[in-house]
Formats: sequence, C-alpha cells, structure tokens
Amino acid sequence: MLNWDDEPTSAPSAPQADANLAIVPAAEVAKRVNADDKRIINGQTDVNQLVPFKYKWAWDKYLAGCANHWMPQEVNMQRDIELWKSPNGLSEDERRLVKRNLGFFVTADSLAANNIVLGTYRHITAPECRQYLLRQAFEEAIHTHAYQYIVESLGLDEAEIFNAYNEVKSIHDKDQFLIPFIDTLTDPEFKTGTTENDQKLLKSIIVFACLMEGLFFYVGFTQILALGRQNKMTGAAEQYQYILRDESMHVNFGIDVINTIKMENPQLWTSEFREEIKALFIEAVDLEYRYAEDTMPRGVLGLNAPMFKGYLRFIANRRAVQIGLEPLFPNEENPFPWMSEMIDLKKERNFFETRVTEYQTGGTLSWD
Ligand code: FE
Repeated sequence: MLNWDDEPTSAPSAPQADANLAIVPAAEVAKRVNADDKRIINGQTDVNQLVPFKYKWAWDKYLAGCANHWMPQEVNMQRDIELWKSPNGLSEDERRLVKRNLGFFVTADSLAANNIVLGTYRHITAPECRQYLLRQAFEEAIHTHAYQYIVESLGLDEAEIFNAYNEVKSIHDKDQFLIPFIDTLTDPEFKTGTTENDQKLLKSIIVFACLMEGLFFYVGFTQILALGRQNKMTGAAEQYQYILRDESMHVNFGIDVINTIKMENPQLWTSEFREEIKALFIEAVDLEYRYAEDTMPRGVLGLNAPMFKGYLRFIANRRAVQIGLEPLFPNEENPFPWMSEMIDLKKERNFFETRVTEYQTGGTLSWD
C-alpha cells in the first residue's frame, strides 16, 4: 500500500554514516501483489494495482461496457416529439404510462449511481471490480441523461416527472424499499470485517443487482419497448434498448460479485440469511406489481398488469437461481419472450430504424 506518512529512509537523524546503503529488511518492503491473495471484500492487497488479474470476468465486463458506449443525443427524437404533440397521437392511457414510467426512471439511476460511488465502491477491495464499478457509475449517469433528454424533448412538466418519486405512491414505495440498503453502505461509520457487516454488504449488493436493476426496471423497460414495437415513441424505445443492454451487464456483474463473495466467505450464506433474502425478493415482486397496476390501470398496448404478475415471478425465479437459491414461485413462464431478444441487441443493429445522429465534432467547438 502507498503510505505517504512513511519516514524517509535517508532521515538526517540516521546515526550511522552508511545507513542509506543498508539493506532494508524484507518485512519492510511493500509486498508485491500475488493474484491468489486478492479478495472481493476485506482484501489486504493494494487496490491501486489492477494487475495481476484475478477476477478476469470483471475486467471483461469493463471492456464490454466500453465497447457498448453510447450517448442519448445519438438518438433522433423527432418522431417522438411529433407523436407526443399530435392531439390524437397517443391515448390517455399511453400518455399516463409514459409519464409514470419516466417518473420512476429519472431518479432511479441517480440512486444507483450514488449507491455505487458513495457506498459499494469503498467496500470492494478487488481493483478489477472497482474498474467495472467506475464504468458502471458513468453508465448510470448516461441513463439519467437519457431520461432527462426524453423529458426535455417531449416538453414534459419537469417538476412533475422529477418529483414523482416523492409524490406518486407506487414509485415512492419502491424507492423507500431501497433506501435502507443505500444508507447502510454510505454510512461513513460502516466497515466490513465482521460476519454481521459482511452480510449487510452482501444483502445490499443482492438488493441492488437482483431487485433494483434486475427486477424494478423490468415493468418500465417492457412498457416502453412495447410502445416501440407498435412503432410509437421509437426514439425513447431505442434509448431504453441501450439502457436495457447496459443494465443487463450491471445485473450480471452484480451476480458474479455476489457468487464470488459467497465462495470466498461461505460463512455468510446461512439458512437464516437465505430466508431474509427470499422475503426481500417476495416483497420486491409485490412492489413492482403494484407499480404495474398503477401505470396500467387498464389494458394498454396489448399489456395489462396481471400479465406482469407472471413476468415478475419468472424474473424473480431467474435471479434467485442465479445466486444459488431455489426458485421462489413454481412453474412461471416468460409471457414476453421478445424481451430476451431486446437484451441481446447489438448497437449497430438499429431495431426501430430511427436515424442515429452524429456526435458533435471538433468543428462545432467554439474557442471564444
Ligand atoms: Fe445500473
């Protein structure tokens, strides 16, 4: 570890003339990092040394995240703007769905970003994982930018949309479910190293990866992508596709982190702990279902809230199995198989055939 408080070895007070030439005892030389010594939590190796690699999966996801880079302004929103402004462009139910949808997402990715930057990052001691978390934090910023860009493009009431997480019960309840897990990790006094606190950290990571990014995003993603499939709000739908692709990677990274922490710290995975996690999964499915009902009081776009009951249970089962739990709900099938296709999007494939605009070039920069 770097330590700037170390006394210089050539301190003038050194009593012997040949002190500078003395061989420093081995124990005082900073030990070189051995990959085998790295740990995801409570590691003792230097977090500033990315290599030697141990967690190659984290580095690979960092590279994949960078390869998927995109910016909201690349997506042309003109057709969405025309549709939104046209009096008969969308039904009232479709408009409600779009506003409630954005009402959740405009603050959701800020919660996720703050949770990473102010919480999770400090407690992770594997530099490969920190490298991915830095990339992920930027992606959360891009997502918040994308939602803001949609709100601005459509000329929506910003105060209404950005305050929805305080003012709309179904959104407020989802966020309130998350807050205690954010508070645990961002508390400056919180430190890992005891079974109790390591379980708190693991629980927060599970809640964020499996339930926030892995479940709470899915009613909203499905709704906007369903609009896109009907050739409505195609610009917003394209943005959501890119976001969905990024979020799938966040979930998969989180699951790899969870399973590696479990492997390195098997004492954390007690039956009592597993029961707590299952209860959280069941509560999250219920909260997300209530959000589905609130955003779709009637059937819209060929979707209705009851269809989401099955979908959310299907996703919850999948997340549970991914972290080594039994499925929570028997025999659930995916009612939206087309969503899987969306997750596998390649950027160069322009699914809704909207025009991708160019990045600003150097020629547009003004030095005045
Ligand atoms: Fe995310």
